[in-house]
Amino acid sequence: KYVLHNEHIISADDAKVEMNDRGYHFGDGIYEVIRIYNSKPFTMDEHLNRLIESANKLDLNLQITKETLENLINKLVEKNELTDGMVYIQMTRGVSPRNHLYHRTENPILSGFTQKLSTQENQTKQKQGISAWVTDDIRWLRCDIKSINLLGNVIAKREAADHHCQEAILHRDGMITEGSSSNLFLVKDQTLYTHPATNLILNGITRQIVLKLAKSLQFEMVEEAFPKDVIEHADEAFITSTTMEVMPIIEFKGGVKTSLKIGPITEKLQDAFQHYKNDGLST
Ligand code: PMP
Repeated sequence: KYVLHNEHIISADDAKVEMNDRGYHFGDGIYEVIRIYNSKPFTMDEHLNRLIESANKLDLNLQITKETLENLINKLVEKNELTDGMVYIQMTRGVSPRNHLYHRTENPILSGFTQKLSTQENQTKQKQGISAWVTDDIRWLRCDIKSINLLGNVIAKREAADHHCQEAILHRDGMITEGSSSNLFLVKDQTLYTHPATNLILNGITRQIVLKLAKSLQFEMVEEAFPKDVIEHADEAFITSTTMEVMPIIEFKGGVKTSLKIGPITEKLQDAFQHYKNDGLST
């Protein structure tokens, strides 16, 4: 098994992490998760663009080109003979004695690894739907940055699991933002509703694809924040993410209580997503 360390692919056994990495001290770093289908990265360009955006927003000088990153990711997938799974890449601000103040002279540290995922298992889940736990969004005000600081998300996910739910759906002062690791969509009277891409959510790559597909299917779309109680009146609900794709929600618990069926619009979008995925991978 191989991992990525700066611009090298090395054996996982030889990989070392530095005690003084600002990623450890302050969570001072960013990351991306890229899905691999049939040994090919899916929407790698979009993910790398978002990584660059996150870096810019944090005044973090990546010191590596998108092309080099692409090559390294492709090489890692090949070396690990990964067919179905994901690549995790992380960039921290680098190593320096612990001090809140960064100096812009640190050299960022890139690391990455691959992990297998079962496409089959995920497809089965997509036919069944999942339960969601509605809880407070206690995160910071720059959720648009894909930072490795994920405590608010981690706490919410555990809370969801403790209530036998597979995802936590977050609300800030009663207004739904997103999932702990996904974006939420509601369907009501043939119209799709989701939170706009502001500082309060991560603008998911899958979210953007679904909005594009919904547009081509001529569904009405409203990108506006909605109160959590609206969920009780929804016809359908689903979440989107790189690893879960388009995942229906059949039950909400916690801050909102309601049951739903997997609806025709969710199914159409699931279908469209699979087609989009296959087209994207064959070119
Ligand atoms: N929101 C949050 C908070 C996330 O962690 C993720 C998954 N990384 C998403 C949304 C979905 O983003 P994507 O579709 O790019 O995986």
